[in-house]
Amino acid sequence: MPKRRHRGMERRIALERMEILFGLAEKEALQSHAARARRYVDLARRLGMRYNVRVPPEYKRRFCKECLAYLVPSVNARVRVGRGRVVVTCLACGAVQRLPFRAERQIARARGRTAQ
Ligand SMILES: [Zn+2]
Repeated sequence: MPKRRHRGMERRIALERMEILFGLAEKEALQSHAARARRYVDLARRLGMRYNVRVPPEYKRRFCKECLAYLVPSVNARVRVGRGRVVVTCLACGAVQRLPFRAERQIARARGRTAQ
């Protein structure tokens, strides 16, 4: 019997493992174990690349894309909200991520432009 890899199942398992790894990264980051947290983030990203699975959106903004530090607001990240976006500054390397603040935009769109 030829050994066939089940892509869909592999990817589902990869996603589950990524979630576990991000959970571990958060735990380490909260205990100020930045190096361990970074390693878990790195592992999760590699897993995603290997199985062609995207980083779940809820974790995408939780780590620094420059130095892979797991970002915890007020511990190693500064978070500012303004003009429909969130600006996250990594305090480890100084990288800045600007993320569109979708919820706010959707609300604004629903209300129409007269709201502003
Ligand atoms: Zn960084």
